[in-house]
Parts: sequence; structure tokens; C-alpha cells
Amino acid sequence: MAIQRTFSIIKPDATNRNLTGKINAVFEDAGLRVVAQKRVRMTAAQAEGFYAEHSERPFFGELVEFMTSAPVVLQVLQGEDAVLKHREVMGATNPAEAAEGTVRKLFAQSIGENSVHGSDSAESAAREISYFFRPEEIVG
Ligand code: ATP
Ligand code: MG
Repeated sequence: MAIQRTFSIIKPDATNRNLTGKINAVFEDAGLRVVAQKRVRMTAAQAEGFYAEHSERPFFGELVEFMTSAPVVLQVLQGEDAVLKHREVMGATNPAEAAEGTVRKLFAQSIGENSVHGSDSAESAAREISYFFRPEEIVG
């Protein structure tokens, strides 16, 4: 597998607890490189657009409210097989099911407040990166 990029968000539950550096250390230890990063307060419109695929799910309102409740850190991560590697190191969506050493096992508080987002495919990664970053903001 070649060098790939994926999109990551450090979510409000994690920024509230000042965990940005600890989460980045997990990513970096796994061989992922932070090649773009910005801290923003998402608007409701941005969160609704980003999570549009979940708009019919019962937790959609809660998800948008949570993602706009505090700053998030938007990131592009780069590395060998980055999409899959990032998903592995994040752990299962529900922290109760996440493997030892994963970000969600270490830090997540619940299935909703689960500290990180990661793209689930190369296609999602390309779409999600371009949703939040201009090409010149990414320096590999
Ligand atoms: P992400 O897309 O954030 O990386 P994921 O791909 O593991 O997480 P998805 O199924 O895409 O999980 O769900 C997106 C997000 O919606 C989850 O990360 C979580 O914050 C929230 N979510 C998912 N399922 C639930 C649920 N049952 N109750 C509350 N929130 C949920
Ligand atoms: Mg997802």
C-alpha cells in the first residue's frame, strides 16, 4: 500500500479535556504524520453537511449538537495505508468494544462522545479533506 492521506477530527469531549497532544502522540506512534491541522468551532451548518450521511439516524441531532459544543481539531494525517491504520488506532465506535491501546479505549467517554473521527475509505477521506481544507493548507 502506498502513502495515503486520511481526515481526522479530535472531537469536543477530547479538546475539553485538553487531550489533543496525547491523541496526536498515539497517531504519531502508529506512523501517521500530521500534515495539516486547525482548531475551529464548527457551525451547525458545517456539522450537518459533514455528517449528511447520518441525517436520518436517531442520534443525528445529538451528534450535531455535540460536534458544535466546543472546539474541534481538524487534521489531515499521512502515512502508509493511512485510512485503515487510523481506523485501527482509533478503535471501535463504542469505547466499550474498543481494543486496548486505541484512542477510544484510552479516552472516549461514550458511543457519542468518542474523542475522534476518522474517514472510513479513501473516497470519504478525499471528500472530507476537501470539505475543510484548501490544498495549500496541506504540507506533506
Ligand atoms: P466517525 O465517523 O466519527 O469516525 P464511526 O465511523 O466509528 O465514527 P459512525 O457510524 O460513522 O461511526 O457514526 C458517526 C458518529 O456518530 C460516531 O463517531 C458517534 O460520535 C456518533 N454515533 C454513532 N452511533 C451513535 C449512537 N448509537 N448514539 C449516539 N451517537 C452515535
Ligand atoms: Mg463514520
